[in-house]
Amino acid sequence: HDPLFEQAFEVMQRIEEAGGEAYIAGGAVRDHVSGRAVGDIDIASSLPPSKIQEIFEKVIPVGIEHGTVIVRHRSTSYEVTTFRTESGYEDYRHPDEVTFVSDIRTDLARRDFTMNAMAMDRHGRIIDPFDGRKAIKHKQIRAVGNPYDRFQEDPLRMMRAVRFSSQLCFEVTGTTKEALVKQASLLANISMERVAEETRKTFAGQGIKNALGLLDETGLFHQLPFLEGMGLQKNPPLSPLKSWPEIAVFLCLQDSSFSVSAFLKTWKRSNQEKRETDQLKEAMNLYTDADDVTSWLAYCLPESLYSSFDRVTEAAGMDRGIKERLLDRKHHLPICDRKDLEFESVDLIALHPDKRKGPWISETMKAVERRVVEGVLENDYEKIKEWVITWNPPGNI
Ligand code: ATP
Ligand code: MG
Repeated sequence: HDPLFEQAFEVMQRIEEAGGEAYIAGGAVRDHVSGRAVGDIDIASSLPPSKIQEIFEKVIPVGIEHGTVIVRHRSTSYEVTTFRTESGYEDYRHPDEVTFVSDIRTDLARRDFTMNAMAMDRHGRIIDPFDGRKAIKHKQIRAVGNPYDRFQEDPLRMMRAVRFSSQLCFEVTGTTKEALVKQASLLANISMERVAEETRKTFAGQGIKNALGLLDETGLFHQLPFLEGMGLQKNPPLSPLKSWPEIAVFLCLQDSSFSVSAFLKTWKRSNQEKRETDQLKEAMNLYTDADDVTSWLAYCLPESLYSSFDRVTEAAGMDRGIKERLLDRKHHLPICDRKDLEFESVDLIALHPDKRKGPWISETMKAVERRVVEGVLENDYEKIKEWVITWNPPGNI
């Protein structure tokens, strides 16, 4: 077995020694069965959180009332959740009531899709009461139980279905798909933040084209502000987009009148995401103006956004492998920052002691900076001074 699983088995053994039952459950079993890289390992256990806190040294109580604690073992975190069912969901957010149960099968029945409703014991045996393995084999996303009821209970599950269809390249079929159509409007009851997270993961999946088609067919698009009516199902991103700034700039490229600030505001994006969107947009303008990866572009765009820029240009079918070219340009830049200039704004002011301060200072410095970055002006005090005098002769002031 996966060494990741072996270490989780040690946690499970400890729970069994304390008289409980324990299983790996949910996404990790799904990913293992479908041969994908396993992410976080979640453990379902029959013991109450208080007991788990007793038997492990390092326990972080993250959601005791829902039965969840985090256990640290060999510097890995495991969410350990007591077997439970949920009922209520009056506010479409949290179940009104969480009831602890004694049986893993009852716990599996509360889960959203058959592929997510499997468990594995510490001997590697799989418990699969809803034919999750069969669904995985046929690449199908099927609700556990009656899909209308399950989407009614928690409408976010509809966006999870879309997200999984993109991540796994699976199809939503049969009554589960019909239920998406019937229940789509219920998504309006879910907070923007939670819908946004599933939407972002949808754009990050390999099967984004699939998922956009599904959003269109089911009417779920209607619940996603700004995305409907952009023709994305016909013109999908050609490769995954991983962040909101990447999605925003991609959409700008699809429609030049796209209001990116209204989009980010409606989707409740953070100031950092807004800033990064502006930086990527500015870089995009430089790129399309020059039709090339220039030194100035490599200089203006923060290196932390090179990968994002690469993904947007690839998804829009404009270019490929831009990141390498940006890095190459960056390594050959004469300066990395305005502070590296041998000629400063105080030097400029000293050249024109009688001139009033104003935007001319930053404009001139910007022109100097750009010329130095582009390699047409040497980063040398005398050379820059000479250039500044001819570019903006004192006589004209
Ligand atoms: P990922 O790889 O993205 O983490 P995951 O399947 O692990 O996918 P999580 O959101 O981490 O998804 O949830 C863990 C498990 O909890 C799921 O596999 C599923 O069994 C169950 N689950 C999560 N959200 C819901 C939900 N809204 N309704 C029912 N079951 C859910
Ligand atoms: Mg998970």
